[in-house]
Amino acid sequence: MAVDLSTRLDRVLGAKTATAMAAQLSLHTVRDLLRHYPRRYASRGEMTRLDDLQVGDRVTVLAQVRSVETRPMRQRRGSITEVTVGDGAGTMRLVFFNHRHARLVAGAWGLFAGTVGEYRDAKQFAHPDLHLITGDDDEDWARALIPLYPASKDVSSWVIQRSVKLLLDAAGGFGFVEDPLPEEIRARHGLPSLPAALLGIHRPASTDDVEQASHRLKWDEALTLQLTLAARRRAAALEPGIARPQRPGGLLAAVDAALPFELTEGQRAVGEELTAELAREQPMHRLLQGEVGSGKTVVALRAMAQVVDAGGQAALLAPTEVLAAQHARGIRALLGPLGRAGELDGAAEGTRVVLLTGSLKAAARRAARADVAEGRAGIVVGTHALLQEDVEFADLGLVVVDEQHRFGVEQRDALRAKGNRPPHVLVMTATPIPRTVAMTVYGDLETSTLRQLPSGRGGVASSVVPVREKPAWLDRAWVRLREEIAAGRQAYVVCPRIGEDAGAEEEPADEDGAPDDAAEATDRRPPLAVLDVAEALRDGPLAGLRLEVLHGRMTPEAKEATMRAFAAGEVDVLVATTVVEVGVDVPNATVMVVMDADRFGVSQLHQLRGRVARGEHQGLCLLVSEAPSASATGQRLAAVAGTSDGFELARLDLETRREGDVLGAAQSGRRSTIRLLSLLEDEELIAQARAEATALLATERGLADHPGLAAEVAALATDERAEYLEKA
Ligand code: ADP
Ligand code: MG
Repeated sequence: MAVDLSTRLDRVLGAKTATAMAAQLSLHTVRDLLRHYPRRYASRGEMTRLDDLQVGDRVTVLAQVRSVETRPMRQRRGSITEVTVGDGAGTMRLVFFNHRHARLVAGAWGLFAGTVGEYRDAKQFAHPDLHLITGDDDEDWARALIPLYPASKDVSSWVIQRSVKLLLDAAGGFGFVEDPLPEEIRARHGLPSLPAALLGIHRPASTDDVEQASHRLKWDEALTLQLTLAARRRAAALEPGIARPQRPGGLLAAVDAALPFELTEGQRAVGEELTAELAREQPMHRLLQGEVGSGKTVVALRAMAQVVDAGGQAALLAPTEVLAAQHARGIRALLGPLGRAGELDGAAEGTRVVLLTGSLKAAARRAARADVAEGRAGIVVGTHALLQEDVEFADLGLVVVDEQHRFGVEQRDALRAKGNRPPHVLVMTATPIPRTVAMTVYGDLETSTLRQLPSGRGGVASSVVPVREKPAWLDRAWVRLREEIAAGRQAYVVCPRIGEDAGAEEEPADEDGAPDDAAEATDRRPPLAVLDVAEALRDGPLAGLRLEVLHGRMTPEAKEATMRAFAAGEVDVLVATTVVEVGVDVPNATVMVVMDADRFGVSQLHQLRGRVARGEHQGLCLLVSEAPSASATGQRLAAVAGTSDGFELARLDLETRREGDVLGAAQSGRRSTIRLLSLLEDEELIAQARAEATALLATERGLADHPGLAAEVAALATDERAEYLEKA
C-alpha cells in the first residue's frame, strides 16, 4: 500500500481507532502519528517507580501481579476484586468490580493505565484499563523497551503502539519518510537518518537507540525554529529604517545634566552601544536585561532623548497604568521645562511628554492623540492604549517596551508597525532570560545586560514564614514591619486577590502564575484578599499606622492618588495586589510582606521583592505561606528566599513551567511543534542549530536546494498564522 506522511490515518487504521485518535489526541495523518512520541519507556528489568507517581496523574505502568483477591460486595450484588501489583520500588492496588479477566493471576505481567487515586493512604487505580502480557502475545511485548505514549480515554498507549506497528507493516518500514535534513549537516553532527530516528523512538532495542533518535528529532525542531528566526532577522535587516544619530546640545545633553546621580559603568556601556546602533539605518532590535533596580529606565530615556534630538518620536510601552503614570511623571520631572514645549513655562527647544492610557477622558485623549499625530509630543508613554489603531505617530523612531515578559511579540510588532519606516526597538526585562531562551523565543533580538546595581543599595534579606509550622513568626513579622515604619520607612503587603465583591474582575491572570495552581486549586481555601487583609491589619497588628489599599478595581485617578501619597511618604503601609509588581519605584519602602506567597510564580516573587531594594536602606522581604516547608511548594519558596541571583531564579522558573508554555507564549511555534527540545538541557544543540541555520540562509540559494527543510519551515509558519487567527 502506498503510504506517505500526509496519508490520513483512517486509510491505515481501523475507523474506530482513527476517529478516536483524531478526536482525543488530534492525530489525523501518518505524520501526526509518527510525531506522537512515547513519553517514556518501560522495561521488565527496571520498572516504573510506582512510588514516584502522584495522585491525579494519568499514567500507564508496567508491573507484575502479586496477588488477586475476589470477594462479594456487602451492600450490592456483584464482586469486588483487589489486585496488588508491584515493582522493585513499591506496590499499588488495583480495584475491579465484577472483573472477568481470566489471565489476571499472580505472576502475570501487564500494562495498567488509569488515573492514580488514593484510598486509605495507599495509591490505587480504580478499574484501570489493562493489557496483560502473556507468552502468546506477539513479539511486541517481548521487546526490551515498551514505549509508553501519551494516551487518552479511548486510545491507550498499547493501541498507539500497535498502530505504529500496523503502519510499519503496511508501508514496509519507514523508508517512505523523506529526510529533510541535508546530508552534510547530518554528517557534521553525527545524526541518524529520519527513518532510522523514527524507528529508534517508536521501537527501540536499547536506551541508546532512544537517545540517538531523540537527539536527531530534537535537531529537526531546533533547526526549523532557528531557520524561521534567522529568516525573520534577515527580512528585518533588508528593510531599512531611519538613522537617528546623536546631536550635541539637545535633549540628551539636558537629561545628562539633570540626572541626580552618576551613571553606572554598565549604564554607560549599554548607552554607548545604543547610541551607536541608533545612528545606523538598520533598525536596532535589542533586549536590555537587568536585575530589578539596575536602572534600565534611565538607559531607555537617554535613547529616547537621542531619537527626539534627531527629529523622531519615541514611544514607551508599559504593562500597567500605575507604571506608565510613574514613567511619565519621572520623565517630566527630569526634563523640567524641556518637557513642556508649547506650555507657558516650557522651553521652545524642548518637546512634550504625553501620557496615553485607556482611562483618559475623551477630550484629553483627543488632545493627546493630536500631539502625537502632529509630532508635538516627542516622548509618548502609555499602556496597551498606545497600540490602538487610532493612535498615529508623525514619525515614530524608537519603540521601548518595558517589562517585556508582560507583552507578546504581537504587541511589540503592533507598535512597531506605527512607524513610517521600521523604528528602532528596545525591549527591557528584569526577568533574566537563560541563553537558550534568548536564542529561541527572543531569537530575533540582540542582548545587552546590566549586571551591576547602582552603588549604595542596601540589598534585600528574604525569608519564608511558614505560618502552619511557626505561627509566632507571623506576629514577629508585623512587629518588624512596625519597627521599620517607626524608623521612618514604608511597607508593602501583597495579596493574591482583591476580595469582597466575588463577581467582579480580579487582577488579570498572569502567565507567570504559580505553576501548580490549577492542580491544587480544587480543595484549597480561596486566596487571601487585599480588602480582608487590610481590614484585619487595621484592627489588629498594624493598628494606628496609615494604611491604604491599591488594586486593579480602583479608578485610575484613585490609584494614581494613592501611589502619589505613598511615594510622598504620606502612607505607611500599602496593601496591594500585584499592581505593584512591576517597576513601581519608591526608594523609601523597605518591607515587603507577601501573603499566600505560594500562589505566585517564581519570577513574580522576584519582581515583587525588587520593590524594596531600591534605596540605600536594607530591604526585608517575607514570604508568608501555609505550604509545609518540606513540600515542593515550600522548597520553591525557600529557593526564592535563598538567592537573589536572577539567572538562578529564571532557571528555577523554567523548571517549574513547561517548555511549551515558554515557547508558546512567545509565538515561536505552536506548542505541538516543540515536543522534545528542552530549553534547559539542549543549550549546546540549539546553539549549533542556530549556527547551521544562519549559514544555510547566508548562501546565495538559501533553502532552494533543500525543499524538505523549506517545507518544514513553511509548516511552522502556517502553524503560527493559524495561532494568530485563533487569537484574533
Ligand atoms: P529597573 O531597572 O528595575 O527598571 P529603575 O530604572 O526603576 O530600575 O531604577 C531604579 C532606581 O534606581 C530609580 O530610583 C533610579 O532613579 C535609580 N537609579 C538609576 N540609575 C542610577 C544610578 N546610576 N545611580 C543611582 N541611582 C540610580
Ligand atoms: Mg523598570
